[in-house]
Parts: sequence; C-alpha cells; structure tokens
Amino acid sequence: MITSNKLSIDQYEKNFSAIHPPFENKEAALMEANRCIFCYDAPCTKSCPTEINVPKFIKQITTDNLKGSAHTIFVSNIFGGGCSRVCPVEKLCEGSCVYNLLHEKPIAIAKLQRWATDKAIQDKWKLFDRKPSNGKTVAVIGAGPAGLSCAHVLSREGVDVTVYEKESKGGGLMTYGIAAYKVTPEFCQSEVDYISSLGGIEIKYDHAVGKDITLEQLQKQYDAVYIGFGVGLANQLNIPGEELDGVEDAISFIYNIRSKGYSQVPVGDKVAVIGMGMTAIDAATQAKRLGAKEVTMVYRRSEAEKNCTQVELDIAMLDGCKIQWLAAPVAIVGENGKVKALVCDKMKLGAPDFSGKPAPERTGETITLEVDMVIKATGQKPYKTLVDENGLKNTKGKLLTDEHGATNIKGVFAGGDCVNGGKEVVDAVQAGKKGAAAILEYFKI
Ligand SMILES: Cc1cc2nc3c(=O)[nH]c(=O)nc-3n(C[C@H](O)[C@H](O)[C@H](O)COP(=O)(O)OP(=O)(O)OC[C@H]3O[C@@H](n4cnc5c(N)ncnc54)[C@H](O)[C@@H]3O)c2cc1C
Ligand code: SF4
Repeated sequence: MITSNKLSIDQYEKNFSAIHPPFENKEAALMEANRCIFCYDAPCTKSCPTEINVPKFIKQITTDNLKGSAHTIFVSNIFGGGCSRVCPVEKLCEGSCVYNLLHEKPIAIAKLQRWATDKAIQDKWKLFDRKPSNGKTVAVIGAGPAGLSCAHVLSREGVDVTVYEKESKGGGLMTYGIAAYKVTPEFCQSEVDYISSLGGIEIKYDHAVGKDITLEQLQKQYDAVYIGFGVGLANQLNIPGEELDGVEDAISFIYNIRSKGYSQVPVGDKVAVIGMGMTAIDAATQAKRLGAKEVTMVYRRSEAEKNCTQVELDIAMLDGCKIQWLAAPVAIVGENGKVKALVCDKMKLGAPDFSGKPAPERTGETITLEVDMVIKATGQKPYKTLVDENGLKNTKGKLLTDEHGATNIKGVFAGGDCVNGGKEVVDAVQAGKKGAAAILEYFKI
C-alpha cells in the first residue's frame, strides 16, 4: 500500500544521513592532504570540468592556509562546497588520480575540498571583492548552478545582476533534485546565501519567466540575459496505465522528499523504478530508505550499457534494490484505479543504434512485476514551448548556442542543462562561467 510515515523518525534520520561524511578532525584532513604528491600537470585538474587547481588547494591545506585553499576552489567553482558532496568523482578528478595506477586508494579530493569550503561557508569568509558597479545590468533566468555561477562572475566584475527564479528557493536541482543523503536542504540554502552575499546579485523568487515576466521584457530592461533554466519536465512512458494512481515521475517524487520532508512522502510497499541513470538510482534508493519493502529497477538494456556509474549502482544494491536488466515496460496494470503490476517485454541486445549502444530488441516473452507503485525515471525533456515561443534556436527544446554560450538572439546567452540536455552540477557551473565571460566580452569590459 502507498503510505507516508512508514518508519520512525529515528529510522528516517538514520536512512537519510550523509553517505559521504566529512573528515572528523584536522589531523585526519592533514593526513590525507599529505598523501598528495602534487603532480605537475595534474590529471585531477584536467578531469575537473571547472579546472580547479587541485594540487594547489591541497598544498594550501597542508600549510594550514584554509582561506587560501577555499579561495583556490571558489575562484574556479563557486559551487565547490556542493560539488564536493555531489560530483561523481570516480569518473572525474579522483578517477584520474595517479594513485589509481599504483592500485592504491586515490586522494580523497572531494572530501578535502569539502574540508576547506565548509569552513568558508560556515564562517562566512569574505574571499571576493566586487568591483565598483559599471552600470551594466544582466537578467539571469534560473537560480541553479549555471545561473548563480554566471551571476557570481558577472557581479565580481561590477555588473548588477537580477536572478529570476520560479521556485521559492535557489540552488536548482541541488536543492530540489539531488538525493537528500548527498546534500541537505540546509547546506543548499547556506551555499546560495554565501554566493549571493558577494553583493550585486538580487534573486527574485517565485518569478517564472514565461508566466510572470517575458523574455522580451527582460531584453528591454537589461543589457543582456543569461538563460540557465535547466530541463524540468519528466519524459512520459506512453504506455497503457500511466494515468493510474501510484504512477509518479522521479523528479516530483524527489522534489517532494526535498521540499516536504521524508515522513510526509507516500511510498509503496513494492516499487518499480524505470530507468538506470543517476535520477533512477536516487529515486530507487530513496524509495527504499522511505520504507518500501521491495524496490526493483527496470532497464531495457544490460548492465554494460547503464548510464549511472558503478559507485551509484553499488549504493542501490547495498540498499537492497533489485535490478531487472533487459526489460522494457509495455503496460501498467491497475485495479480500482490503483497500480497492481508492471508488465515488461523481455529484451535481447542487437546491433548498435544511433547512441552507439547495442539496441534492445523484443524477444516475444513478457515478465510481470507485482508492484503498487511505479516511478518513471527515463529522462527529462526541455521546456520546448517556452524556447519556441521566444524564437530561440533549439534541437527538440535543447537550446543551441555557439561555443561561448551565445544564442541566436543578440544579447541572450545560455548554459547548463538547458543547453547540454542534462549533465552534472560541475558542468553547469563551468557553463555559467563561460557564459559570464561571453557577456563581459559582449560588453567589452
Ligand atoms: C534526480 C537528479 C539527481 C541528480 N544527481 C546529481 C548528482 O548526484 N551529482 C551531480 O553532479 N548532478 C546531479 N544531477 C544533475 C544536476 O542536478 C544538474 O546537472 C544541474 O543542477 C544543472 O544545473 P542548471 O543550473 O543547468 O539547472 P537546474 O539545476 O535545473 O536549475 C535551473 C533553475 O531554473 C529555474 N527555472 C526553470 N524554469 C524557469 C523559468 N521559466 N523562470 C524562472 N526560473 C526557472 C528552476 O526552478 C531551477 O532553479 C541530478 C539531477 C537530477 C534530476
Ligand atoms: S569540482 Fe568535482 S570534479 Fe572538480 S575537483 Fe571538485 S570534486 Fe573533483
């Protein structure tokens, strides 16, 4: 049965406590920092999309220069605190650490990054000065990682920035999407406060562009516009039974956990999660942690083609989630308007399709999973109507820009998920920096 309050408060707290806890004390952080051999031409820096000077910030930790260390991180990535919690480091900085070649544990780069940035955010260190206002104004759409990273760079250069955000909190999917056991709502709030404490950044919450104000109005009111509104709408499965009570999309399921609190979110006893990306993993593990007895992840290809990393899959498996590889949902069966079962075609792998992965082909056999809840996590689709209505060039809603982030409309720039279709936080932060540089070039500042 789908119910909320399945567990005791203590159990919820335990289930949702951080999976990557910080260093316990300075000695532990120093010991780890001192393992770093400070490579020349460091591969970790090259593998970080924001190119944080990793050896430098780690060296600064070893010399007890924590302010310098935090500055080194934030100058490249103002979301360095959030990224230290959510980056899939196994495929980024830590994945390229030379210790891997020696078959030793890589340096805990993210944990060290957290050590320096947590202190900065907690103690509200003022690490940047804003240049005097130069009279230029920019409207940023979306207070997510792309929008706020762009806003911070622009404001440092003396541009006055106004951010229009449709939700009542900033941080974008950091606040409303990413699993609560990776990053807490409290931390997200303090990170947004820290970023905007620079000055010159006004965030207008509960202001949706396209509803409360138009792009055209922003173009008239400001010298330039930066679009960082992400991809928000969940893909449909387009199979019979999708309208039944108990079918939910992963984004709204996670949004509810993040905004209402664990105990208030209803979850089934037997849950099927469709998809095998990061969102699917987050939905499955959180369904289990909310008290579902059985969670089965359903994916139409095999393990070799999964979109999530092995580390993420391991989290789901350790949480006791089952995996049904090579199964494509074809119908959701209901009883009295409620989900009763998920029917899937069994698949086999054929020749590679347009994605380069072996295409799943139907075998003619079916399997039926007895479930009372189905969570859809098969990707998100861009805000196509909003984009088309404003004459912005796009491919299926994904904004088209030049390599600097300029759209086809003069003075309108874009970046982050709305351009790349959905990557990681660290990619959106880098896109925001690039967009800010392009706007400054446009202003010739
Ligand atoms: C469930 C889930 C789990 C994820 N887990 C991870 C993870 O573990 N690690 C990781 O690195 N990445 C993860 N990601 C991806 C990451 O969250 C995104 O890549 C990143 O947040 C993109 O940043 P953005 O600024 O481009 O967009 P967003 O974060 O989506 O921010 C866009 C902002 O624009 C606002 N907005 C939208 N439309 C309008 C409008 N019309 N007017 C005004 N404001 C508007 C939105 O409310 C939002 O605040 C995950 C994503 C999801 C969905
Ligand atoms: S931002 Fe992410 S990828 Fe870059 S160094 Fe930090 S943890 Fe690694």
